[in-house]
Amino acid sequence: PDLIAGVPADRLARISLREARRYAASRPRSFKVLQKDAGPFLGRVPMHWMKDWPMPFPLVVARAAGARLEDIDGYGIDDFCLGDTGSMFGHSPAPVAKAIRRQAGRGLTYMLPTEEALAVGHLLVERFGNFRWQIATTATDANRFALRVARAVTGRRKVLVFNGCYHGTVDDAMVVHDQGRTLNRPGLVGQVADLSDVAVCVEFNDIAAVEAALATGEIAAVLTEPVMTNSCMVLPQAGFHDGLRTLTRRHGALLIIDETHTISSGLGGYARVHSLSPDILVVGKCVAGGMPTAVWGVTEEVAGRLAAYDETRGPGHSGMGTTLSANPMQFACLRATLDKVMTPKAYGRMEKGAERLQNGLADVIARYKAPWHVVRVGARVEFICAPGPLRNGAEAAAAHQPRLEGAIHTMLLNRGCLIAPFHNMMLVSPATKKAQIDRLIAAFDEALSDLFA
Ligand code: PMP
Repeated sequence: PDLIAGVPADRLARISLREARRYAASRPRSFKVLQKDAGPFLGRVPMHWMKDWPMPFPLVVARAAGARLEDIDGYGIDDFCLGDTGSMFGHSPAPVAKAIRRQAGRGLTYMLPTEEALAVGHLLVERFGNFRWQIATTATDANRFALRVARAVTGRRKVLVFNGCYHGTVDDAMVVHDQGRTLNRPGLVGQVADLSDVAVCVEFNDIAAVEAALATGEIAAVLTEPVMTNSCMVLPQAGFHDGLRTLTRRHGALLIIDETHTISSGLGGYARVHSLSPDILVVGKCVAGGMPTAVWGVTEEVAGRLAAYDETRGPGHSGMGTTLSANPMQFACLRATLDKVMTPKAYGRMEKGAERLQNGLADVIARYKAPWHVVRVGARVEFICAPGPLRNGAEAAAAHQPRLEGAIHTMLLNRGCLIAPFHNMMLVSPATKKAQIDRLIAAFDEALSDLFA
């Protein structure tokens, strides 16, 4: 029979239909309000990613706390998506909620520093290392600004990124590697520029290709996640990060590490845990407990080079900033998160829970002899419907099985567990309980027992 990752295609089609119907039948209220009131939104959702969930229509959420969501149909749901990392430390962590209440009556944005902002500067150094920091509102922006700085101080044009990467809606990184060439990523809306003019794309873990690109002398910076988390999860092979650091130094390019997802690795993120030494570090999403905030920091050396560049720069816009960034509400949330939420104890809980989840899922996969595998980076676990390990973006793209994964996601949700939509990512927050993890493992077991029956 026709098999998709070991699952007969006709069985998958039958199960998908059954689960979609079950979802729709169980959520009459969500369906009704969306039918009635979604019209004012472009494409009927407030942000078009919300159409990428595999269910026939999205959940309409009533509230969330800890690692639980409640929808307007009255279902309690164990949330392992956690806003795709924005709520990695749980929904509304108590210290953050308290900080928001305190700041709420003191003004929300004034484009001036506060004493709290100054305290956060020290906390950022303590948590992530001795960088000189700026606050942005999204990780996308932080990456864009990091690239501007890299081009400014090196006087070079191109960024080197890895095939299958994602760094937010940063144009320069929206490229693919195709038979040795760098091409615009398919699917971009309204992209009129040829991005190969400003970017080079090679495969992750291919240090020879990195070296060849750097040797052209055109590369201002390598922009990478420490682990490629947006293409299934591709781990760096032994020596890859050392190679990146040695080669970028040798060829005068900066190394920008985007820690937005790999902050799951442990206190201070992957770079800290694994002693990487980037020139620029970017952290976004969960860094202020879910309040839209990102931070980016440059080494003292890069700060010095930027200051020298600024001396030569004429008057005019820097192309960096954004009006609401570094506002006092962000600082209230940053301080609460860095000081009271993102703690060694919290990471201890996350690590332990995620290990339990990893082992549980791997056991199920082994029991059904599914040709699949599980990867974990700290609190972040992913099952992949293909054998592993994956070495690069091309292998990750080939491993991706949207129809099968969509069916599994809907099956899990019909059994009370929500996981991230675009791939098979599950996050374990400090608030996630053992019972929730066990429920997810049991739901996964039930899903595989149907798929592999
Ligand atoms: N960097 C990485 C590694 C990401 O995964 C993402 C978003 N998924 C971003 C940056 C961009 O974050 P944001 O959408 O908040 O701008």
